[in-house]
Amino acid sequence: MLSNAHNVDNFDLKQAEILLRTSLILVGLILSGCIKNSSESARTFRIPWSDAQNRYTLQDIEIKTFDEPQFLRGSLAEFFIEPTLIINEGKLAQAGVPTGRFLSTPSGSQVALDDASLQAATLYAHLEKLNELDVSSGAASFLNKRPAVAIKVGFVDENNRVMENNAQYNPLVDAILFVPYTDSKLPITLNGGVVAHEHFHSIFHHIVLSHFDSTMTYAGLDLDESHQVLPKAPHEISNKDVSIKTYNLYLLRGINEGLADFWGWIYSGDELFVGRSISSALDVRRLDRKDPQFFDLATFKFVIAESDNSEQRVAHAYSLGTQYAIYFRNIFLQLYEKKTDPETRAKVAKTLVKALFKFRTELALRLEKEYLPPEIFIASFYKALQEESSGVQTFNVCESYQRVAPLAHDKIAGCEPVQPVVETTTPPAVEAKTPPAVETPAPPPPAKGILDEK
Ligand SMILES: [Zn+2]
Repeated sequence: MLSNAHNVDNFDLKQAEILLRTSLILVGLILSGCIKNSSESARTFRIPWSDAQNRYTLQDIEIKTFDEPQFLRGSLAEFFIEPTLIINEGKLAQAGVPTGRFLSTPSGSQVALDDASLQAATLYAHLEKLNELDVSSGAASFLNKRPAVAIKVGFVDENNRVMENNAQYNPLVDAILFVPYTDSKLPITLNGGVVAHEHFHSIFHHIVLSHFDSTMTYAGLDLDESHQVLPKAPHEISNKDVSIKTYNLYLLRGINEGLADFWGWIYSGDELFVGRSISSALDVRRLDRKDPQFFDLATFKFVIAESDNSEQRVAHAYSLGTQYAIYFRNIFLQLYEKKTDPETRAKVAKTLVKALFKFRTELALRLEKEYLPPEIFIASFYKALQEESSGVQTFNVCESYQRVAPLAHDKIAGCEPVQPVVETTTPPAVEAKTPPAVETPAPPPPAKGILDEK
């Protein structure tokens, strides 16, 4: 269904595209004396790029497959500038074909002459390198070969507020959508970690979620947000309940977000990448922290049940996601003795992709039947790692698994979690409405005001 919708989009644009292409070629001939046609020159673009210390500077970056920069497209991506997302038809629509404007430096590097061209060239450079990671990790053959990327998409939220400073992978159009950026930091479209985060959502969609009924797997189409945990005041007892379907929706959202942040780090090596673009996320999404305690099932069920609306549930999903992202980064550092070069990170990407397939198999058995344990993906990762390594490495994962998820429901062969000794209250029953008395990231002390004021 999704890919059909995408094809309709291409068909609609065809005629306008041919007309515009013809006129642009004519204009190109006239202007060839002053502006070089980039497709005929070296594929080096001067774009904002991070160095080994994660500082962004203008650098000359080679892009191999940005074949038609004058139309802002190449064999690995095509761009839509200020398009409209027609949700009912599952397509992106824009007026005409985008125009890329570049000028050569004396050394032959292409410099963008407008905002859209700069964003498109930079995004393309990241997508090309992400594609290399997809190929080496085994994800590439499951993805759209030439995904759409939309810049400056006009979105309004449920309250009719125009959305800014955000991005989204949208499975309906199989595209990454960027809304306008107005913050004063690094624009999201130029942030390699954020591009990788969004790109991972497409991997998670194609390998995992697309194999299930979307009503079971998509917790709305909210844009990414730097949600802080906004828990309800921690009532002693919740009288509310939540269905398996709703609970699992937000659990999957959390796992998806967490692994996307981890993928953003695998690609960029930057622990602070979200905060580089979104001020409010600097602390809550940073990954250079010690192991978190995962939500146990009863607590996650409690906070989802207690949430009054999807925004609050999404906030808790992001909170779980950050637990995953920090956990996996720490596991990585243990497994590879703090070697954080791209080659080593690519190895973990491969294991992670393998784990996605195991996770899909797990979901097929359990998604509709039970409240899934929040730490569920760790078991899939562990099994993938067992297959990939000699077994020595798995010890670290096993040991940390017991530490971060002492109440884990899933037993991994040879890696049984140790039940905590001093606990007085055991959570256990799936129906339990009281959060267990274990240390968890939420709920925190009664936070007066934060939620109520909204
Ligand atoms: Zn996300």
